[in-house]
Amino acid sequence: MIPRRRIPIAGRDLRDIIAAPFVPRVQDAADVAAFEAAFGASAGCGHAVATASGRDALLLILDALRPGPGAEIVVPAYTLGELLPLIAAQGLRCVAADIDATTLNVTAASVAARITPQTGAILVDHLFGAPCDIAALASLAARHGLPLIEDCAHAAGAVADGKPVGSFGQAALFSLEVGKGVPTFGGGMLTTSDARIAEHARTAVARHHRLRGPAMRKAALKCVEELAVRSPLYALAARLMFGGSGGGFERAYRRAHDRLRPPALAYSGLQARIGLRRLATLDARNRRLNTLWEELAQALPPGFTPLRRDRHGRPAFYNFAARYDGDIVRLRRAAQNHGLDLAIGSEVMDDCAALLGQTDCPVAAAAFAAMVQVPLHDGLGCDGPRRVAEKLAAAARQCR
Ligand SMILES: *Cc1c(COP(=O)(O)O)cnc(C)c1O
Repeated sequence: MIPRRRIPIAGRDLRDIIAAPFVPRVQDAADVAAFEAAFGASAGCGHAVATASGRDALLLILDALRPGPGAEIVVPAYTLGELLPLIAAQGLRCVAADIDATTLNVTAASVAARITPQTGAILVDHLFGAPCDIAALASLAARHGLPLIEDCAHAAGAVADGKPVGSFGQAALFSLEVGKGVPTFGGGMLTTSDARIAEHARTAVARHHRLRGPAMRKAALKCVEELAVRSPLYALAARLMFGGSGGGFERAYRRAHDRLRPPALAYSGLQARIGLRRLATLDARNRRLNTLWEELAQALPPGFTPLRRDRHGRPAFYNFAARYDGDIVRLRRAAQNHGLDLAIGSEVMDDCAALLGQTDCPVAAAAFAAMVQVPLHDGLGCDGPRRVAEKLAAAARQCR
């Protein structure tokens, strides 16, 4: 079975993990500062603050911007559903803006249609690493005097209009979770060029110890997971876990993950050392995996449409997602029979408009019903796209 994800654990990561308890606190602090500085520079921002997760970075941004209780925040209709309750807990009302059918990102027009006198902020995504029309969105936000927040969780290393994503709005969040572009066994990064937002985040983070325990527990769990997905039993387990229309197991998995997150805003020196190495190779990794992405996009069997990712700049690599014009539940079952671990439904992304009770985002609803995530990751060699495309074609034939 070709698993949907592989967990990158390098020999040097293991060495760092074993050595972590013996590293002095001053060294940890220096390493976190060095990682923040390097990350900020790569995102074209003057300030970067490491946090316990991408979601914590978003909360710190909202807390610094303080759009005012009861204010509305425009959010993408197709993104991570877990963001919605977090934003609501800040006293803000989420209003979903529909997405473009080819890029799955919001557009300046779809966001403009949601701006009211109550709007206090705009959150946009660069979904699956594809830059959205961020220049147009930035000028829309500026015209209305609204702060723009970029969710760059999928897009570390992506470039739009010759500038790194994350440098267009008031502030941006990145995720350092396993599976994102710069994985450090959990963590997030807030980047901004606004000294006031940076200062606010720094003050909040400084109240917390930079514990390494949560990252070490997560690393241990990830080693077990990596062994599990490589085992011959994984094919059977995947069939049991991922039956039905998708979402049940994945949600439980994400919740279990969330419990591992440190309660405080901690980010450790151990994670920073791993992050510095991953950041240094980010561009090469994006290039390598984007090449595989293109090869798989070219080799897709009939019935599949890949995302359009280069419309507004140079994409970063994040999971391979494509639209399927048949029954995704049947396709997933057939793919499992052919040894391909497809993700569907909310395992790919959530229909946030539906979660908010909105019925006015038809493109997002259609995308939610049609998107499949096809395995493509570091664990596949050069012939990966060909092998994956063959299995996908066989599965699709079985569904006809
Ligand atoms: C992963 C992700 C985040 C935040 O990630 P954390 O798990 O909190 O680090 C935010 N937005 C999107 C779209 C994501 O996929």
